[in-house]
Amino acid sequence: MKITEHIANANGKTLFSFELLPPVKGSGIQGIFNSIEPLMEFKPPFIDVTSSREDLVYKEKSNGLLERVVYRKRPGTVAVCAAIMNRFKVDAVPHLICGGFTKEETEYALIDLQFLGIDNVLVLRGDARKTDPGFIPTPGGHMYATDLLKQVTDMNNGVYLHEYHDSSHKTNFCIGVAGYPEKHFESPNLNTDFKHLKKKIDDGANFIVTQMFYDNNKYFDFVNRCRENGINVPIIPGLKPLTTAKQLTVLPKIFHIDIPEDLSNAVSGCKNDKEVKEVGIEFMINQCKELVKFGVPVLHFYTMGNPEPTKRIAQAIF
Ligand code: FAD
Repeated sequence: MKITEHIANANGKTLFSFELLPPVKGSGIQGIFNSIEPLMEFKPPFIDVTSSREDLVYKEKSNGLLERVVYRKRPGTVAVCAAIMNRFKVDAVPHLICGGFTKEETEYALIDLQFLGIDNVLVLRGDARKTDPGFIPTPGGHMYATDLLKQVTDMNNGVYLHEYHDSSHKTNFCIGVAGYPEKHFESPNLNTDFKHLKKKIDDGANFIVTQMFYDNNKYFDFVNRCRENGINVPIIPGLKPLTTAKQLTVLPKIFHIDIPEDLSNAVSGCKNDKEVKEVGIEFMINQCKELVKFGVPVLHFYTMGNPEPTKRIAQAIF
């Protein structure tokens, strides 16, 4: 079922969902199942599975020379989605990224998804490779999420790449895109970033999932601004409970977000990460209560494969 239908069917009740990463190459699927099982009691109508592009690694050989290895650390997004749907009977939402895939490979993935009965995709540009100074598109791939979005909407209209015949099956994907209440880090300002987001919606995206945030006012301002500008799709808040003191510096560095002073002060006053986890969970329970009061359609958690903090928050909310 489409995410938009899940939300409509909930009649204003806030739903619970979460995101996880495919297993590291060489691991089995059981770890994924183990991280989902504790959260199933909160009846997530959908679970997101991230996607990652290849990275470049330089390995030293026995002769002292460096060997350049190109590899994807966490392959298997489509298969993990299928495994989740098969086992838990919920919708799985694969993240589709521009980086690391040619348009043809993306088309084949979309065809696979359609055959598997996957109705939703989250369309993203994707992160830059760790060794690159910024995002470098894959030759024959897409540069921006809007370009990838167009490929999906084209298929929804029955238009495929290199098409030589008339009758084309129309896919019916419900399409999500990313939104940044605190601005995407490459954007010169919020207005410019907002224009690009608006284009994604005007071009056919059906829902937005936000970057994590810890200050609800930033989400509220973002939603209000969207509504004032005619963006009326569901805006799903992305949430990540803070669990270690190190995250005070790591999260702003990686995700370009602010940690409010009351939270950072509380974390700084903790003796160890056990205490930090308690502070993070308590903070997020309060954050979620306020979001539910605001009427958010879904509380969407970035679990990173660790269900326990999310479970405790969900127990307090649902
Ligand atoms: P875009 O919408 O393409 O925007 C990228 C930047 O370019 C922005 O600054 C935007 O303002 C600007 N821009 C957009 N269109 C244009 C244009 N036409 N001309 C000029 N500038 C433009 N990364 C992964 O690798 N894998 C994942 O699974 C993944 N999941 C995510 C899930 C969520 C909910 C979020 C919020 C992020 C996720 N990311 C993931 C990270 C994301 O890929 C990065 O933040 C990436 O840098 C931007 O992706 P985007 O889709 O927002 O890009």
